[in-house]
Amino acid sequence: MANTPASNTATSSHALPSYLNPEHLGAWGIYLQQVDRVTPYLGSLSRWVETLKRPKRALIVDVPIELDNGTMAHFEGYRVQHNTSRGPGKGGVRFHQDVTLSEVMALSAWMSIKNAAVNLPFGGAKGGIRVDPKTLSRGELERLTRRYTSEIGIIIGPTKDIPAPDVNTNEQIMAWMMDTYSMNEGATASGVVTGKPVALGGSLGRREATGRGVYTVGQEAAQHIGLDIGQARIAVQGFGNVGGIAAKLFAQAGATVVAVQDHGGTVYKAAGLDVPALLHHVSAHGSVQGFEDGDTLPDAQFWGVDCDILIPAALEQQITAANAHLIQARMVIEGANGPTTPEADDILHERGILVVPDVIANAGGVTVSYFEWVQDFSSFFWSEDEINARLVRIMREAFAAIWQVADEHRVSLRTATFIVACTRILQARELRGLYP
Ligand code: NAD
Repeated sequence: MANTPASNTATSSHALPSYLNPEHLGAWGIYLQQVDRVTPYLGSLSRWVETLKRPKRALIVDVPIELDNGTMAHFEGYRVQHNTSRGPGKGGVRFHQDVTLSEVMALSAWMSIKNAAVNLPFGGAKGGIRVDPKTLSRGELERLTRRYTSEIGIIIGPTKDIPAPDVNTNEQIMAWMMDTYSMNEGATASGVVTGKPVALGGSLGRREATGRGVYTVGQEAAQHIGLDIGQARIAVQGFGNVGGIAAKLFAQAGATVVAVQDHGGTVYKAAGLDVPALLHHVSAHGSVQGFEDGDTLPDAQFWGVDCDILIPAALEQQITAANAHLIQARMVIEGANGPTTPEADDILHERGILVVPDVIANAGGVTVSYFEWVQDFSSFFWSEDEINARLVRIMREAFAAIWQVADEHRVSLRTATFIVACTRILQARELRGLYP
């Protein structure tokens, strides 16, 4: 529950539009700093670097819906296409009360980097609605999703920009998005979103893919620093799709999950939490709060927990200059997007803590989204084993290439990932040339 940005919910038409609020430049500012850090390594391609510092296209939409009580509510929605030099835009849709345009811009940019880092033929995009979906009924959520999809329908499409799930969005929401877009087009367009239910052209293995990717790069990185996963103690912030699955896979490999924090609180057990039981508790009660087979910790103590691997898998800007010095882990694997501020990154680096950055660590989800998109286009579906094997191969190869660049240039894995990704994006930019 730590470090939630100040809430400024746009549930009424009186709230200041977030794109006018200068306090909400955090994540985008961090991204710009990351690009600046990598520019000296881009050689002659650096003359194109400005292209990375602004989104190609950003759409802000009003999403009005009728609530169950008969009144009207307006929500602010966004879809940002950061870069499409290497292919159509690709990236998730987030429903959260703290979503802002600048956050979505940053998330879309990190998608450009991530897709290029694992060499998928996609650009980067992201979307969101500034709403706390927990306050909506299922019917309200469906109306919100459908109206939002219709509003952004002018820029998305299977060959233009393909949304997917992110925080607080899931397979059902993707099914409603696919249906709405298809209704407006007059033809079923299963390739317009990924992360759909398997019965609707979704891919086997997609739900677990991001967590599996986190686990896979964790294994690779652990080997490089001589850490035995079977003996490792793990702390996880965020116990949803990414954190929950990653914790499960690490536990299955023999690791001890000692602490888990989500929006409801923090649970701790030095001898190891029973991950399947905790997952069951969360699906029954909505959060880890009240889990009896462990101790409750004050949220701030989570960061200082004695562990080998820390996995932030909730929201951005959770590891900051204020808590980075408390971290005991030998390595941080960023399941979430943007969980570490640049100042915290430097502190971790100085303290010799390896950071496996988001742009490679959580790329498993978009990789299987790519498989889903390919399967939808060919209407031919692969087995789960085939999908997992291809996922693991792509993640391992990408990680090895990035490790080598980090070694060559003596830079962090984050800078190395940006070097690989920005080079690919700007090569495509240069080859395509400027239109007109
Ligand atoms: P989710 O909605 O399934 O889970 C989010 C988790 O974060 C929940 O356990 C929630 O309780 C917790 N959380 C929310 N606010 C918190 C707070 N203030 N303090 C502590 N915990 C908090 O979302 P997800 O899909 O698992 O996504 C988590 C992160 O991973 C996000 O940064 C997302 O962008 C990133 N990500 C997700 C995917 C994917 O495929 N789902 C892919 C790449 C990156």
